[in-house]
Amino acid sequence: MDWFLPEKLEKLKSIGGGASLAVLGCGPAGLETAIYGSILGFKVRIIEKARLGENLMRWGHARCFTPWGENTSSLGREILHRLRLEQARRSMDTIQTGRSLTTDYIEPLLASQLLQGALETGKSVLRIGLVEPTPAVGQTSAFLLLTRLQDGKEKMEEADFVADCTGTYGNPRWFGPAGLPAPGEAAARGRIVYGLEDILGESKAYFSGKSTIVVGNGLMAAATVSRLALLARENPATWVTWISHKPSALPIARVPNDPYRERDQLAAEANTLASRGENHVEFFPGMKIQQVDWLGEDAGFRLVCNGPMGVKSFEGERLVCHRGFMPDTVLWRELGVPLDPVREEFGRELSHPPRLSGFDVIGSKRNGRRPGYLMKNAQNQIRAFFSRITRQPQLDLYKLCEAKGNLHS
Ligand SMILES: Cc1cc2nc3c(=O)[nH]c(=O)nc-3n(C[C@H](O)[C@H](O)[C@H](O)COP(=O)(O)OP(=O)(O)OC[C@H]3O[C@@H](n4cnc5c(N)ncnc54)[C@H](O)[C@@H]3O)c2cc1C
Repeated sequence: MDWFLPEKLEKLKSIGGGASLAVLGCGPAGLETAIYGSILGFKVRIIEKARLGENLMRWGHARCFTPWGENTSSLGREILHRLRLEQARRSMDTIQTGRSLTTDYIEPLLASQLLQGALETGKSVLRIGLVEPTPAVGQTSAFLLLTRLQDGKEKMEEADFVADCTGTYGNPRWFGPAGLPAPGEAAARGRIVYGLEDILGESKAYFSGKSTIVVGNGLMAAATVSRLALLARENPATWVTWISHKPSALPIARVPNDPYRERDQLAAEANTLASRGENHVEFFPGMKIQQVDWLGEDAGFRLVCNGPMGVKSFEGERLVCHRGFMPDTVLWRELGVPLDPVREEFGRELSHPPRLSGFDVIGSKRNGRRPGYLMKNAQNQIRAFFSRITRQPQLDLYKLCEAKGNLHS
């Protein structure tokens, strides 16, 4: 690590004092937490159930709307600079895909000396338990993690500190009334598409020439409908039935004076498709889903909805549901912290995720069900976590790094 820190910052390494920090999940938030912790001298392990940047890779055929300078941290860019990688000179305004963000940022940082050997892929954390109530640097392990490898082998592992950065994409929201699964939804779950598929690429054959029901009124729904509309130009047998539970005739709420041009363009384009009823897209607002039936391989799905004109049924060979995601709180169940039920519908949010002195939730999971989380939001959470566990309220490595001459030797 000496190559990273000039002498005047050498003392940072003693702050963590080799205490073990388990970072759960290797998405953007897990990566940034691991960088910060390693610079402070924590012994960092990143436990990832799939591969590095799993979720970015899944939607990564699409372009980000936030630029390179916001998706990356000053600490990460500093390491790229020291590795003399070409992307270290990239303009902060560059827009790139999720996949290239993974290959240009997450991958080289994990391969750097700072994080070498820290990543353990193909291992899920199933539960977190608390052994000692108040850990501090220098004490013995406070947390137990039950982990499972892909071959099914399970074991208990220890950590002094734990950062849950497992995101929410593994846990789609149900789309029935009151946030419950609609009757039939649970049984059909394995056949419903919840992620952003590469409709014009890898998944083209699955959607081309088919009728697809799309549920949702956020940016993922906008992206799916826009791509299906393009597919319908190529293959006119492609049809889209777009259902939103909100009554607005324009499904996507645009951000006034949106600073992100790509996001606003997508929203405007999707609203145009919904309002004009062109390009084989039919839009139905105000639809509350009551029932989901899987009718078999040939017929696909039937959705029964309550709408402005009463009960209406929709049929489609494919079903894509973009009603958002929710945090999997089962991981923390044994920590004994009071949890608010996260019920967006009643205006309550996961505003106070569990906070024990050695544990925190960082990244999109911390946002609960609220949409609108951006990768850059993790930095404040990371700073607060490390200030707390090191008992150094003023500690701010990002600021140190940005201050000219501090990390650049
Ligand atoms: C189409 C699309 C476009 C987007 N564009 C942008 C954008 O332009 N700008 C922006 O800021 N954000 C954007 N986002 C949101 C962005 O993807 C998220 O903000 C970001 O991925 C959240 O990072 P995270 O590290 O919190 O979670 P994730 O990226 O979800 O990472 C969580 C990781 O934890 C792993 N994991 C899950 N459960 C376990 C477990 N039990 N044990 C071990 N590992 C586990 C997962 O495999 C995953 O690798 C976009 C999202 C989508 C879908």
